[in-house]
Amino acid sequence: MKNREEIILRGVAGSPGIVIGKAYLVDREGVDVVEKFHIEKQHLEAEINRFRSAVGKAKDELRKIIDDIPSEYREQASILETHVALLEDKMLYDKTIDYIGKEQINAEWALKRVVAEVKTIFHNMTDDYFRERSADIAHVSDRIMRNLVGATSVNLGKIDRRVILVAHSLSPAETSQIQLEKIKGFVTNTGSEASHTSIIARTLEIPAIVGLFEATEMIKTDDVIIVDGTTGKLIINPTEQSIQDFNEKTAGYERQKAFLNRRSHLPAESLDGVKLNVMGNIELAEEVVSTLSYGGDGVGLYRTEFQYLSRKDFPTEEELYERYKDVIEVMIPRPVIIRTLDINGDKAVAYASISDENNPALGLRAIRYCLKKPDVFKTQLRAIHRAAVHGQVSLLIPMISCVEEVVAAKRIIEEVKESLEADGLQYSKKIKFGIMMEVPSAVIMADIMAEFVDFFSIGTNDLIQYSLAIDRGNREVAHLYHPMHPAILRMVRRVAEQGEKKGIGVYMCGEMAGNPLYTPVLLGLGVNRLSMNPQAIPAVKSMIRSIDISKAEGFALELLEMKTADDVLKKVQDAYGSIMSNWIYSESEES
Ligand code: PEP
Ligand code: MG
Repeated sequence: MKNREEIILRGVAGSPGIVIGKAYLVDREGVDVVEKFHIEKQHLEAEINRFRSAVGKAKDELRKIIDDIPSEYREQASILETHVALLEDKMLYDKTIDYIGKEQINAEWALKRVVAEVKTIFHNMTDDYFRERSADIAHVSDRIMRNLVGATSVNLGKIDRRVILVAHSLSPAETSQIQLEKIKGFVTNTGSEASHTSIIARTLEIPAIVGLFEATEMIKTDDVIIVDGTTGKLIINPTEQSIQDFNEKTAGYERQKAFLNRRSHLPAESLDGVKLNVMGNIELAEEVVSTLSYGGDGVGLYRTEFQYLSRKDFPTEEELYERYKDVIEVMIPRPVIIRTLDINGDKAVAYASISDENNPALGLRAIRYCLKKPDVFKTQLRAIHRAAVHGQVSLLIPMISCVEEVVAAKRIIEEVKESLEADGLQYSKKIKFGIMMEVPSAVIMADIMAEFVDFFSIGTNDLIQYSLAIDRGNREVAHLYHPMHPAILRMVRRVAEQGEKKGIGVYMCGEMAGNPLYTPVLLGLGVNRLSMNPQAIPAVKSMIRSIDISKAEGFALELLEMKTADDVLKKVQDAYGSIMSNWIYSESEES
């Protein structure tokens, strides 16, 4: 059999690590589940038009992908040109329209039938060329089908071997259900660095590339692929040389990880003697284990909404209580910050959605949802207050945009305490109350907000999204997503300054906190505690041990006066980048 040529693609580095394996294209799963309907004569034209517009949309999507391919990868553009041509192919296009009209059947069924016929013809040909064309037909028909039926959900349960998942998109709920023994890594067409899908991949430590527009178009099931989640580079059908490079990179990556992990239990104490708490972000209770094993000093963000995803109805107070208790007890004596429900936005829950929203990120998300659904909120608050007697717990409210929301949340908390008292249940009376600083209005009002709360936690994932007006899951604008944007640094400084004035803690739990290069900047700006995906903890602790915080303070304040994110990044890289390269090259060093 003829060797297929190596193809290199570039996406967004979603979750670090490098892996090689066979691809498994999941989009076809949902597309296969197509039903047959009879179409009345008077509706046939509309049905044919529906098919035409799905094809038109597929064409536009492909054109867009082709236009975005950098000139050095022209070769892959030619494959996609073939796909555009196939969309107009008589065998596929005309025949489908023919079937719809003659047999009075729905477009999905007609297309499925045509594809099955074409595939049979091609399959019987022994030549590799025709086999490849059969796969191309499958790709284009999937694209049309997706447009006809809308987004399909991915059925991960069917996978029975170790593969690298390739999907148009994976929801945060689907990603959180990935079974590590089956899935080595994944690649998606959609998403960007701060999308929840990437965040979960980092927590699960699965290498991932996201925002690779043409992934499902270019990769076929059983293709051997290399996924470099650290750089976003993907190789299809790697050559011997690429495999050798992969082996060297893996070894280097493992050495660096081992270097950092060996020191992860040392305290995060700076050169000038400042001791800091470095904590882990978790989505599921099970992740506390990795927080501890990476040397985390507690859970700085427990994203509780994941217990609400992938189920048919709200969890009960007892279920929630048991989960929270598990986490709190395992972490004792370390603190656990439990964030209340942050559903909707990109973490939609079918049974909890209130209406179709045009702008879910700006919609009924997080505290807004909880205030509208006080029963759901109270159930969670009761569970948290009861579980808190088992350890050291703080409460964190997401997406606060005004003082009224803080006041309303606090009033509900008081009602919850009264009801627990009346029920004669044991509960904690002194839980610290914090708010996420992730909406620009809250940052501007930080001086006032500080009077109502015990601590602030800066959520840079959303703060960047809302202040720079960049959808955090949209690859198209991913290049504008700059944590080092001077506007973001000024906002962080504002929160830290106001927190310091009022004597309350200023934490950061956004992904920015997990990048060791940013550590000196954040601590220099006055953030007191950092929380991040657990696997980032060792590197951040190492960075803290290598820096002088008082020097970082002067350095960070200078950044506030700079003009562009690139200038800031360069200055930070020049000042602190070499510390990180030492971790890479100190492989011979033993602790
Ligand atoms: C954030 O917005 O920075 C954050 C930590 O919360 P989430 O990523 O869950 O929105
Ligand atoms: Mg957020």
